[in-house]
Amino acid sequence: MAGLVAAAEARRLGAAPLVFEKRRLPGGSMRLSSGVIWRHREFDRFRAECPDGDERLQRRVFERLDADLRWLADLGAPVTAQETGNPLTTGMRFDPAALTEALTVAAGGLAAPGRAGVVCGSAVPEPPGDAPLILATGGFAASRTLLREHVTPEAEHVLLRTARGSTGDGLRLALDAGGSTSAGLDEVYGRAMPAPPARVAPEDFVRLSQLYARHAEVENELGARFRTATWSEIDVAQWAARQPRARAWMRVPVARLRERVRGRTVGEMIEAAAAAGAPVRREPEHVTVETVAGITTTLGGLLVDEHARAAPGIFACGADAGGIATGGYASGLAAALAFGRIAARAALGEAP
Ligand SMILES: Cc1cc2nc3c(=O)[nH]c(=O)nc-3n(C[C@H](O)[C@H](O)[C@H](O)COP(=O)(O)OP(=O)(O)OC[C@H]3O[C@@H](n4cnc5c(N)ncnc54)[C@H](O)[C@@H]3O)c2cc1C
Repeated sequence: MAGLVAAAEARRLGAAPLVFEKRRLPGGSMRLSSGVIWRHREFDRFRAECPDGDERLQRRVFERLDADLRWLADLGAPVTAQETGNPLTTGMRFDPAALTEALTVAAGGLAAPGRAGVVCGSAVPEPPGDAPLILATGGFAASRTLLREHVTPEAEHVLLRTARGSTGDGLRLALDAGGSTSAGLDEVYGRAMPAPPARVAPEDFVRLSQLYARHAEVENELGARFRTATWSEIDVAQWAARQPRARAWMRVPVARLRERVRGRTVGEMIEAAAAAGAPVRREPEHVTVETVAGITTTLGGLLVDEHARAAPGIFACGADAGGIATGGYASGLAAALAFGRIAARAALGEAP
């Protein structure tokens, strides 16, 4: 998201950016996402929910997002809903595949190596030296090594609910060039997902999310309990990621199976987990589902200033830039959109 946005903005300003995408297709986690780009309605609420984030960075996302969403819609990205479905937040929903397509075109289209545009199957090289470099490699949620180093000793057990390419390349590159890390390097956003032997394909990451901890008793395999205290249930996945084998059991009273969470009933979510192969125990009064923490994105990353500067001549945006959602959760797509544009303007020496 952030890289394509930065390239689209740079082209609008008259530059001819080269986008290196290491995977076969552009889009990263954006392509796998629900496509809801949002901000909190009140800045105070944003601060309260992400208290350890850098207020200057948060203010930039908060103040720019509405105009950035209009810019995105003007690129031709189809808006599928004008609201988020959550009274605490405002934003828009996009179709992720169509959004990726519109942004790829705006970024110069798919291109052959060495040509301006989006070159797939091509990892970002060393800093070019003669041109500014914008890092937008999506954080390190796909690297079990970095997750073990910074987030959890149970890293080998978590489900990588993220795009394969986000293995911390931007972080390494900027640190080598003199950058430093943000607060909250140990923080991740995630979801409870059906536990093995369930098989969860990337296109099922959204559909198979188990989002009913508020209706359940949540336990680890030693019987220790956890009670969710957030509307996003981010705390459940964060907790489970650090429990033995990154597992959490959700015990749901049968009477709660008809409760609705984000358009689905609890019963439907459980049936989807069972059909995918997760262990589900059915008793007269309860249904218990074994879940595993699914790591979606890292919340810590590079330390950047409000112009997305991470090191001399190097800018970072999207999940590569930490310090925005620290202490809680805010829209990763929104941060990628706002700071993608900011990074492009700063890299070209334009007014913010
Ligand atoms: C299932 C799911 C649902 C989600 N739903 C939402 C939602 O509804 N709303 C929301 O706000 N957020 C959502 N997110 C999170 C959101 O997708 C991310 O926060 C966002 O995509 C981050 O943008 P990014 O540009 O940093 O990374 P990405 O969009 O992941 O892009 C990073 C790109 O960099 C590439 N790359 C990595 N290393 C290199 C390298 N060395 N050289 C070249 N290319 C490289 C990767 O292959 C990838 O294509 C969701 C994520 C998932 C997985």
